[in-house]
Amino acid sequence: MPLCPPMAIEMRREGLLVDAATCTGCTKCIAPCPVGALSMVANPLVAARA
Ligand code: SF4
Repeated sequence: MPLCPPMAIEMRREGLLVDAATCTGCTKCIAPCPVGALSMVANPLVAARA
């Protein structure tokens, strides 16, 4: 969560939630995850901003 520049990652009781409207697609959260739980998928909201 601290590695996400726009603070798009939120901790919920059921787990981490990435706000697709806030995520910039920078991928800075993927490599630091110790269990490889994160991956990048197509985000139409990021594509629309490009
Ligand atoms: S890919 Fe999205 S969720 Fe991950 S660090 Fe970048 S902005 Fe945050």
